[in-house]
Amino acid sequence: MKTINDVKDIPAIDKILNFPELKEFADVLEHNYLLKVVRERTAEFRKRILNKETLSIEDLKKSIVEELSDLIHPYYVYAINGLGVILHTGLGRAPYISSIAQTLLSLGPRYSRLQIDEDGRRADRYKRISRLLQLITDAEAGMFVNNNAAATLLILNTLCKGKEVIISRGQLIEIGGSFRIPEVMEQSGAILREVGTTNRTHLRDYESAINENTGALLRVHQSNYRIMGFTKDVSIEELVLLGRKYNLPVIDDLGSGALLDFSRYNLPKEPMVQESIKAGVDLVCFSGDKLIGGPQCGIIVGKKEYIERLKKNPLTRALRCDKLTSAVLEATLQLFLRKEEIIIENHGVMALLLKPLEKIKRQARYCIKKLKNLPGVKCEIESSVSEIGGGSLSTEQLPTFVLSIKTEKMPVEKLARAMRLHNPPIFGRIENDLYLIDFRTVFDGEEKIIADALLKILGP
Ligand SMILES: *Cc1c(COP(=O)(O)O)cnc(C)c1O
Repeated sequence: MKTINDVKDIPAIDKILNFPELKEFADVLEHNYLLKVVRERTAEFRKRILNKETLSIEDLKKSIVEELSDLIHPYYVYAINGLGVILHTGLGRAPYISSIAQTLLSLGPRYSRLQIDEDGRRADRYKRISRLLQLITDAEAGMFVNNNAAATLLILNTLCKGKEVIISRGQLIEIGGSFRIPEVMEQSGAILREVGTTNRTHLRDYESAINENTGALLRVHQSNYRIMGFTKDVSIEELVLLGRKYNLPVIDDLGSGALLDFSRYNLPKEPMVQESIKAGVDLVCFSGDKLIGGPQCGIIVGKKEYIERLKKNPLTRALRCDKLTSAVLEATLQLFLRKEEIIIENHGVMALLLKPLEKIKRQARYCIKKLKNLPGVKCEIESSVSEIGGGSLSTEQLPTFVLSIKTEKMPVEKLARAMRLHNPPIFGRIENDLYLIDFRTVFDGEEKIIADALLKILGP
């Protein structure tokens, strides 16, 4: 192929636009967008020529075609999680419930009965979800906003603007992705009043901090860390009693918020929404896309009087979710109305948490069998640990099996990248120069896709 050494030899934009390789795009794309991409890629190509890179006109064509093709195909596609982190923010946190396709199809490219009642009148857009939440959690009412950070912001802004919120120093957490309790509080207009020390907070610490400008007592679940050793926490029941004594609302930010009792499944106990409600908490908030296994949203349940106040706050309008989120949340909560064995079977997060080790091993073995005759590739099954992630049951790890691949054929980074560029993208991790796929987070049948991808990338 002829290399281009002088930028004068780069064809004019008009000529490039007429390359036969671009015809399929030129036929369907608005000309201005095509032109923009061609100009940008050509300018970049020009720079590379000036930098004395060895390039031919084919390289220019390739870069233009690649970008155009990339632009017209979806980026947010289904991906395979071989990372072993069940709630991985980079991979969209919780997988949806198994029947979600029906929900999405029922909505389709049409309208939705989002906020209108049988009489054709504008209705309360939270009524339906509130009813489901009421049944499941025993709270008086419920609503939902864009995410749990928004829920915290809305609650504090509504109840505590200009007032002090008392919180234990040990609960001033940062969740990651720059969600820090003190910063959210500042944005809400509430004033932070820390009490106790990092490892020990007593009821008397809360009580002596209460004054005429106190707005609420707040508990935040220490989602992603634990303090071990010499510790003292005030229970939510004690906090509720204190709130009642001084007529102050008690707010509980649960983070993941489990609706099922995890300890019944030999999983570490995660605070349940129902328990907080039973303890008498006024408002409980939690994420929709952590252990609930629903869409990204922040769910709020609690006393009707407070929920009504939240709804009236103009911020609610800015934080509200659309019909898609509403429909997916509805379907997810409806699953929780079912018998527990039906939930377990159809709830992606629960299914992965409870995935039997022999099933994990079977998937890994399938891949080993497929790959065993590949020269220059060494595959093994190793014991490892998966993570729940998303700040849930954080210090707990789940036993698992990983497929480990060692190959002389290419650097391990290159293998990992090729897997990520596969369709569908496959995400694995690198450890000690080995490429690892954790099968706990690999759904049924995906082991075939993984094996085929590895065969294609590492094959002859
Ligand atoms: C995850 C988490 C949040 C943030 O929730 P998002 O839904 O990601 O906004 C807030 N508080 C706690 C305790 C959490 O664990």
